[in-house]
Amino acid sequence: MLKVENLHVKVADKGILRGVSFELGGGELHVVMGPNGSGKSTLALTIAGHPKYEVVKGRILFEGADITHTKPEDRAKKGIFLSFQHPVEVEGVKVIQFFQRMLKNLRGIDEVEAYDMIFRAVEELGFDSSMLSRELNVGFSGGERKKLEMLQAYLVKPKLLILDEPDSGVDVDSLKVIAGIIAKLHREGTSILLITHYGRILEYLNPQRVHIIKDGRLVVSGGMELVKLIEEKGFAAVKDNDRADK
Ligand code: ADP
Ligand code: MG
Ligand code: MG
Repeated sequence: MLKVENLHVKVADKGILRGVSFELGGGELHVVMGPNGSGKSTLALTIAGHPKYEVVKGRILFEGADITHTKPEDRAKKGIFLSFQHPVEVEGVKVIQFFQRMLKNLRGIDEVEAYDMIFRAVEELGFDSSMLSRELNVGFSGGERKKLEMLQAYLVKPKLLILDEPDSGVDVDSLKVIAGIIAKLHREGTSILLITHYGRILEYLNPQRVHIIKDGRLVVSGGMELVKLIEEKGFAAVKDNDRADK
């Protein structure tokens, strides 16, 4: 599904990623962890094709095709969806309108059908439908924004969902709801790359693999034992024994 090969990425002329390699199979859930500033969001944005992030070495393959230099909107059409760490406020655009446009653009679904689909999704996820008539993200709390992002992902039904810290700044109850939606998408066959700072959300999930990024390098990949190690001893305990830039 997704293959990242020896990725080196520059942002604003500064080298950020310096060797990231991993392979995520169809329907798998992988976790990316690492200290602040290690390059996790850079990895997410690079896979999604953000124009500021320049691949200087290595490549990204999606379903066998080289997408290293493909435009972000074309990646989205191929089924790659990135949920943002800090979603923007858009005044004057209601949530429902935003989702209707999104479904039209990404899935070619007309407004009327999209309308029903959106209300059905809100019901399935147990959300309050009044959120749909509010302006996009304006005045939304951290937890509400995260829920909105999950609703968005649930509607898009991407092949590959990249989540950048969906658990940051949310309370325990919202965390459970968010984890529940991620688990549901995973069960339905969506491939997921989940970036997280803390192990907590993983109590509700069943990841196939965990990758640790330190200082722009993927230093080790393994199972849940890595999460346990980090929780007990911090990122310093993770040794650079699987350098991906060799
Ligand atoms: P993480 O998500 O792991 O906290 P980031 O990928 O956000 O880390 O950032 C990694 C490094 O790259 C940081 O030093 C950050 O300041 C830098 N960086 C990221 N994006 C930009 C940008 N758009 N312009 C300048 N520096 C950036
Ligand atoms: Mg960060
Ligand atoms: Mg980040």
